[in-house]
Amino acid sequence: EETRRRYVKGKKLGEGTYAIVYRGHLAADPAQAVAIKKIKVNADYKDGLTMDAIREVKFLQELSHPNIIAMHAVFSSRNQNLNLVLEFLPLGDLEMLIRGSDSVAYGIADIKAWMAMLARAVHFCHSRFVLHRDIKPNNLLIAADGTVKLADFGLARGFADPYSPMTHNVITRWYRPPELFFRARFYSGAVDVWSMGCVFAELVMRTPFMPGNTDIDQVSVISRAIGTPTEDNWPGVSSLEGYVPVAKDKVNPVQGKQYYLGLFGLVGPLGVDLLMSMLVLDPRRRATTRKVLAHDWWRAEPKPTKKEELPKKG
Ligand code: ADP
Repeated sequence: EETRRRYVKGKKLGEGTYAIVYRGHLAADPAQAVAIKKIKVNADYKDGLTMDAIREVKFLQELSHPNIIAMHAVFSSRNQNLNLVLEFLPLGDLEMLIRGSDSVAYGIADIKAWMAMLARAVHFCHSRFVLHRDIKPNNLLIAADGTVKLADFGLARGFADPYSPMTHNVITRWYRPPELFFRARFYSGAVDVWSMGCVFAELVMRTPFMPGNTDIDQVSVISRAIGTPTEDNWPGVSSLEGYVPVAKDKVNPVQGKQYYLGLFGLVGPLGVDLLMSMLVLDPRRRATTRKVLAHDWWRAEPKPTKKEELPKKG
């Protein structure tokens, strides 16, 4: 109640599947803008879900990093709705810049700056034992000064306990790694790194790299775009619960560097090498965020654009 009264809710900014987002400000200072995200709770699950969300959210309040959306407070309104008070990020998201009506011209140095901010955000989450599990351009919001901020932690969870199985039904399909389609239960930070690879590819192509129509179709799209998962390229894959054997003559070999250079040559051989390391089928062989951050591409020419100079919408 006390927390609720510290904020004033203004006009509606937008509505997603799980939330309605309002503009707001500090009651004590109208110049301090915030976004208030009211989580829609299905009446049937209300208590359980709200408690889960609150626990999650409390945990994420502690994730303070320049490339992660700041959460100032959490409160529940009179009718038990959960409200998150978030940093106000007025410049839309990366999806709008890539292909929305506000799409802009951008180059390799800009892609490098955006990807570096994403990599730092995800590395920070993983170092705190949090998986984001829904990385996609639409969840990368842009601050007034051009900084990219990872948002929408609705699906995030801790992975500190390696013995608690996790649900595979996470991550928007096009950005979801193959281990989740095979219903791996003990997955790791590698799921987020795959999604980062998909975002990287999309920034270059300006269209989603692997847009599957259904979950089953997504596995064939991955198989054609990257290669078919087999015991050779991914030891143990055939023991996963959801694995579907593929006839030998239907196996697509794992694509090599020439193929990636043809599609993504714009970012140079080093950029292509980094992209390939994120899109490795076997999650144990996929790059970690530590590996990603240590890559030579970041220091190669062109240098990443300074955030104040990044292209912005409108
Ligand atoms: P979706 O993921 O479908 O965009 P959200 O519930 O996350 O749904 O957000 C709905 C809309 O509210 C967004 O499209 C965006 O325009 C706006 N919005 C979300 N978060 C913020 C924020 N922190 N600052 C400003 N606007 C926001």
